[in-house]
Amino acid sequence: MKSIGIDIGGTKIELQAFDDSFALTSSERISTPADYPGLIGAIVELAQRAEGRIGPVPLGLSVAGVIDRKTGLALTANLAATGKPFQADLAARIGRDVTFVNDCRAMALSEAHLGSGKGAARVLGLVLGTGVGAGFVCNGKLDEGAQGLAGEIGHIAFPAGLAQTYGLPVLRCKCGRQGCFETLLSGPGLSNLAHHLTGQSCTAPELARLRHSNAELSHVWQVWCALLAELLMTTVYTLDPDVVVLGGGLSRIKGLGDDVERALAAVQMPAMGLPEILLAEGGDATGARGAALAARQRLPE
Ligand SMILES: [Zn+2]
Repeated sequence: MKSIGIDIGGTKIELQAFDDSFALTSSERISTPADYPGLIGAIVELAQRAEGRIGPVPLGLSVAGVIDRKTGLALTANLAATGKPFQADLAARIGRDVTFVNDCRAMALSEAHLGSGKGAARVLGLVLGTGVGAGFVCNGKLDEGAQGLAGEIGHIAFPAGLAQTYGLPVLRCKCGRQGCFETLLSGPGLSNLAHHLTGQSCTAPELARLRHSNAELSHVWQVWCALLAELLMTTVYTLDPDVVVLGGGLSRIKGLGDDVERALAAVQMPAMGLPEILLAEGGDATGARGAALAARQRLPE
């Protein structure tokens, strides 16, 4: 069966259409309108244009955010849809159900079926980008939890022991809480960490480039890897995945996989194994492809 996935980001919206075996058959990209009616109108037009070509097929949306399952209202990171019945409004305008999936959960599903996690029973996809979030896929099915919150691990607070060892700053997170892993592990978080530990302002790509030649930045990188290893151990103790697939902008840093494995080995429980750490294969395609996969999985059997 064919399917459509739409990845709705803060700056662009990309529709991708897939054939039965999930090969990409067409795609279209537009800029993201800044107001809610414009956003709804643009997504509806995009979906209707694609369906004019291939007919009404399962349609999934990948969004950086969650929908409250009781109220139906959206909470999004970078769209004019927070506090709005985003999914219901789209379904009403398109004329049928649409599947909504968080972008990190979409990445996990896409990688578990068609990317690096293919063949593994328990796959955790972890996105390290402008935010930090994850998705968990067990035996091919996305496990989103009772409220769709399973995977919001960027908003777990880092432990006091690490804060004390490395003199970490306890910053206010965008979620309203303090000391979340995301405040130091995301792309902007890595810059926060560098600024706090060295007084230098540098972006994540600059730090990644200079980490082998600059002693202070090398230390910042080691602290960042230690934080990431701690977050990964938290997921090992709760979900115990076979495979962790790293995605998002920071996962493209050369040598990241090796550095993370080294940091994980340092905090590993004695005599116990660790999940395999892999990098995402899907690149920018994972949001739309994961959403299309989720839409197909939600069809009645
Ligand atoms: Zn937070």
